[in-house]
Amino acid sequence: MRSRIAASMMCADAGNLLSGARAAAVAGVDLLHFDVMDGRFVPNFGFAPWMIKALKGAADIPFEVHLMVEDPERHAGVFVDAGADIVIIHLEACRNIYPVLKGIRRAGAQAGVALSPATSPEPLKYILPYVDVVTIMTVSPGFAGGEFLPEMVSKVEEVSKMIGASGLAVPVEVDGNINARTIPLLARAGANVFVGGSSGLYRKDVELSQAVREMRAAAEGAC
Ligand code: ZN
Repeated sequence: MRSRIAASMMCADAGNLLSGARAAAVAGVDLLHFDVMDGRFVPNFGFAPWMIKALKGAADIPFEVHLMVEDPERHAGVFVDAGADIVIIHLEACRNIYPVLKGIRRAGAQAGVALSPATSPEPLKYILPYVDVVTIMTVSPGFAGGEFLPEMVSKVEEVSKMIGASGLAVPVEVDGNINARTIPLLARAGANVFVGGSSGLYRKDVELSQAVREMRAAAEGAC
């Protein structure tokens, strides 16, 4: 599966999001990643539907919304309506995940499921046919700049094997402190979508387009 780079818009210049979305697309990223937080599932706040809607016209690449919220069944639809092409919900936030995943697809978007670092991937084997992407959090969710958790490499490997055994072609995304140092480990373990934030894409030392090239080279060099 071809590796893809996603730009974490939480790490772009918050005062210039419209040009930030455009710049990420021009720099060559494959999708834009928006972290949505409700102050409950994680102690922080993130993007709102009206912001996604306002930014939608700025870049002609998929918009991926990562819902770090409680009760995602209450909120997933409004993000699809706002223009999300992919809506990712957390396994830990759902009491009954099937209707939520099915509802996202029925609304016309792709459905993703995210796992916080200490969540076992075991339940995935029951829901993979309803999932278009699995997102493994490689830091504790909620804030940019978190510490990379090396234990997540074996989890990515486990999930990749599970997907391989299922015969489905579900991409594995990694989110949190993803950069040229961590990508080779994760790519070899089977990850193929890399969310670049403050350490990978939005760096002070290089231009965005160069950072995209470095992340892509790290992903492609590892496989
Ligand atoms: Zn995210």
